[in-house]
Amino acid sequence: MADIKPNLKFVKQIISAGGCSLKKCYQCATCAVVCKLSPDDKPFPRKEMINAQWGLKDKLVSDPDIWLCHQCSDCTAYCPRGAKPGEVIGAIRKLSIAHYAFPKFLAMMVGQIKYLPLLIAFPVLVLLAVLAATGHLNIPPGEIVFGHFLPHTHIDAIFIPVAMFATLVFAGGVIRFWKSLQTQCNGKCEKGGLIPSPSSIIPVILEILAHSRFNKCEVNKGRALAHIGVLYGFIGLAITTALAVFYLYILGQHSPYPQLSPLKIIGNVSGIMLLIGITLMVINRFKVKVKASIGSYFDWLFIGVIYVVVLSGLLAEITRLANIAILAYPIYFIHLVSVFFLFFYAPYSKLAHVVYRTIALVYAKQIQR
Ligand code: SF4
Ligand code: SF4
Repeated sequence: MADIKPNLKFVKQIISAGGCSLKKCYQCATCAVVCKLSPDDKPFPRKEMINAQWGLKDKLVSDPDIWLCHQCSDCTAYCPRGAKPGEVIGAIRKLSIAHYAFPKFLAMMVGQIKYLPLLIAFPVLVLLAVLAATGHLNIPPGEIVFGHFLPHTHIDAIFIPVAMFATLVFAGGVIRFWKSLQTQCNGKCEKGGLIPSPSSIIPVILEILAHSRFNKCEVNKGRALAHIGVLYGFIGLAITTALAVFYLYILGQHSPYPQLSPLKIIGNVSGIMLLIGITLMVINRFKVKVKASIGSYFDWLFIGVIYVVVLSGLLAEITRLANIAILAYPIYFIHLVSVFFLFFYAPYSKLAHVVYRTIALVYAKQIQR
């Protein structure tokens, strides 16, 4: 114990990231007992609460257990001290995402509301600059065709680099995260480093698709259904994007596509699924706010961006069909800004939990935790 030095700066960071009740914990371990997702061997979240009170940053950001927690809030509801361990672990996850992301200033900006206007300004200016440079800074006359406003070649020129940037940042973060997880192996990792194996990856993917861990939650039971809506909405939109590439570059067909084409049906159903999922998430947060919490700015930023992406997408479609050009094109512009925002800042936002939690689950499976 004599060698452990408290890191008060990190304690303060946890507190300001949403773990403000951290100091109330008196180590009774009720949380570790009631948590249905915690293993018997070295259960969480009590040990994370101790590490958080000491500000042991290295231990916390390389702790796979912070990702095995699904923030169901059972521990928070039963904590006799109101220390809200579920929220504290959520705050540590946020700091862990920022720790592995680069450049760091973007992670810092995504975590603070005062930078939101600047973060929005970036995609707005990029899109306006492309529209201005290509002479498209106006409402095109005639039938509403979004391709007349911003041709697909311009869309590709903007969004392919955005996707590449996010992928690179994620790749760097994942490599560093995987390495740091192995510092906590306790002799369970192979010499020369642990390599993720299909026998760990496949069951984890099936578990995520079924949301079986979420279903063990009690206090926040509705969370699983809401989360499933969001997950499958995203999967559907990814399929829609792949179909759009296929229609355009393989079949040579340009939008707008007929409403009954598979692309449109899958896209619209996925958008509605995402909208229902995210709305259930909001309802759920308010339903359990007395026992748990309604979440931090980090959580609400993600919810807000999803709303703007989905609503602007659906409204752009509706106003296009209603032939209201004065609304359709500006709403389509907002849609593009929100999609840019979602993907460009994904490695720094709550969306990154999809990646880090999957990696942590694979690691846990591999070391049989
Ligand atoms: S967080 Fe609450 S339940 Fe868990 S050890 Fe601390 S006081 Fe006990
Ligand atoms: S929030 Fe839920 S999963 Fe996370 S530690 Fe608490 S009880 Fe366990």
